[in-house]
Amino acid sequence: MNIPLMDLRAQHDSLEKEINEVIREVISEAAFIGGRHLNEFEEAFAKFCGSEFCVGIDSGTAALYVVLKNLGIGAGDEVIMPVNTFIATPNAVRMCGAKPVFVDVSERDYLIDTSLIEDKINANTKAIIPVHLYGGVCDMEKMKELSDKYGLKIIEDCAQAHGSEFMGKRVPILGIGCFSFFPAKNLGAYGDGGAIVCDDPELVKKCRMFINHGRTEKYLHETEGFNFRMDNLQAAILNVKLKKLEEWIKKKNEIAEIYSHKLKGKFRLQENREGDKNSYHLFVIRSDKRDGLGKFLEASSISSGIHYPVPLHLQPTFRYLEYEEGDFPIGEMLSKEILSIPIYPELEMEKAEFISSKVLEFE
Ligand SMILES: *Cc1c(COP(=O)(O)O)cnc(C)c1O
Repeated sequence: MNIPLMDLRAQHDSLEKEINEVIREVISEAAFIGGRHLNEFEEAFAKFCGSEFCVGIDSGTAALYVVLKNLGIGAGDEVIMPVNTFIATPNAVRMCGAKPVFVDVSERDYLIDTSLIEDKINANTKAIIPVHLYGGVCDMEKMKELSDKYGLKIIEDCAQAHGSEFMGKRVPILGIGCFSFFPAKNLGAYGDGGAIVCDDPELVKKCRMFINHGRTEKYLHETEGFNFRMDNLQAAILNVKLKKLEEWIKKKNEIAEIYSHKLKGKFRLQENREGDKNSYHLFVIRSDKRDGLGKFLEASSISSGIHYPVPLHLQPTFRYLEYEEGDFPIGEMLSKEILSIPIYPELEMEKAEFISSKVLEFE
């Protein structure tokens, strides 16, 4: 018995008939770029999030870039984000010509420490990107306060948080969110995919033009643009999977409950605020013998992962920002202690029990 970190094959098997059917439909209609499946997905996903609009994009990274660019962020601007996130977040900022500014994360929930943000705000600061990492939701009340006080844009990186909730609202909470449909995410395409979800019709209009060569008519181009479109085949597959997403999140929460119940008190876990709902893209535990624990689980045929082993300020590519080891003590400590254990909707409860008992055996 081998337990993977997530099992995309099992998910496909559970939907094989419907997925094959929509793939055949797209092929027989020969409408590959744009079309009814994409329109249907954009409408359904906006509704799922409780937001006005959704624009399909060809990756989560591009979704971040397109939003930043169309909010006018560029050279000379600074954008604040947590030091522990996937590299896509700072890369999108850098691609706009702006400067990523890192903030340490909180030991309680591993998300951006909102009490440290104000210190990093200066005349060049234009935006904050809170990242709802692992499915946990950042303190968006504090974020709103900072946004109002300093006139900053808030762009939520929701790539790991499809369906996560803050005070009864699904992310994005403050109006602009970027999603990834990378296959392993809570909602995954059969290839790359992403989306911008927002409530601002003007921003949507700009982004729609930008991702399609600034086009107004087939060969008439009004603005700067590029090609970042989501294709119709991915949208058709996502339509099938979106119908299952609520059920999948529920399953993941049941697994998370088993882990929390068994491991609480013995391992430090990501804490959720009262009333928030975590959709558990990942379940992360902490151990000061993390590498040993990973190897021990591997020997019992249980896969695990580290998200992420190198904090952003120590990534070689960000040397030019001149950060040093010791600048973000919590982020650095977490990078040495965190371990993601298997969580996916098809994981049987007995296996979650088995994984818990193996983890407990190690300590
Ligand atoms: C996956 C991810 C992205 C980027 O998404 P892609 O679709 O892989 O480009 C951005 N931010 C975070 C936090 C992610 O996990």
